[in-house]
Amino acid sequence: MNTYAIAIHGGAGPKVGGITTPEKEQEYLAALKQALESGSRILERGGSSLDAVEQAVNALEDCPLFNSGKGSVYTIDGTHELDASIMEGNTLNAGAVAQLRGIKNPVTLARDVMEKSEHVFLAAEGAIQFARKLGYELLEPEYFAVPARYEQWLAARAANPDELAPQTVEEKSLGTVGAVACDSAGNLAAATSTGGILNKRFGRVGDSPIIGSGNYANNKTCAVSCTGSGEFFIRGVVAYDVACLIEHKGLSLQAATDEVIHKRILEIKGDGGLIAVDATGNIAMPFNTRRMFRACVASNRPMEVHI
Ligand code: ASP
Repeated sequence: MNTYAIAIHGGAGPKVGGITTPEKEQEYLAALKQALESGSRILERGGSSLDAVEQAVNALEDCPLFNSGKGSVYTIDGTHELDASIMEGNTLNAGAVAQLRGIKNPVTLARDVMEKSEHVFLAAEGAIQFARKLGYELLEPEYFAVPARYEQWLAARAANPDELAPQTVEEKSLGTVGAVACDSAGNLAAATSTGGILNKRFGRVGDSPIIGSGNYANNKTCAVSCTGSGEFFIRGVVAYDVACLIEHKGLSLQAATDEVIHKRILEIKGDGGLIAVDATGNIAMPFNTRRMFRACVASNRPMEVHI
């Protein structure tokens, strides 16, 4: 069997929001491990990278510890608006959704946009109507509400009563989840899902659902999923930039991801990180923030789980 590899992230940031005790840290590590295994099991059995990244991201979306699906951050008006995207590297097919309310697993809806519609990107009411037609259950806002996120939102509002004041890096509380994988057929896939940034204006869309910015996959180069200050990752076209450095400059996966995260995105003052994999099973997980929740495993590499 050829090499397979998978990496996941649970967001990058200046501080680790919910980690207040060693027990809490263990909870995060266990959740990352469980999500990684839900994807790697698929690859081990010869399944596709697309199924593996969707499955791993679903596990993270369902876990209230991370800023995606259940546990998403609050918008400025106290709602949750979720964004996600998915891409497969052999066909360059992609699907994306933004400004979702009530959808438990946004990344699965993004996959349905890719596979069951003639479009790539559906947002807001149109995306929700599409989900309804496919028989998705629409959940009440309470499902997404997690007390720790609510506290975070109250604190952010108290610290920043002027809605128009830009947030400092410390206040931003980055999050997001993602997965990238290479299956034993050499096919790559990437998936990313997020609640966005804390206290964002409703209607704001970050990099996560934007193909080429927060998420990208191409068998010729790599699969990438980003996390960080979305506005900068959009402007840096980060995920595609990594692929371009590999394709046009001949850089290795590690060199290309380091160049983008430790140089190019810093030059425009972006903070965050990414996970990436190439078609030979190499994995890179650079970040320029204090921490990034991340984990990886490959057929030729033992499991690693880090915060
Ligand atoms: N990139 C995400 C966004 O801007 C947030 C994050 O990764 O923390 O929506």
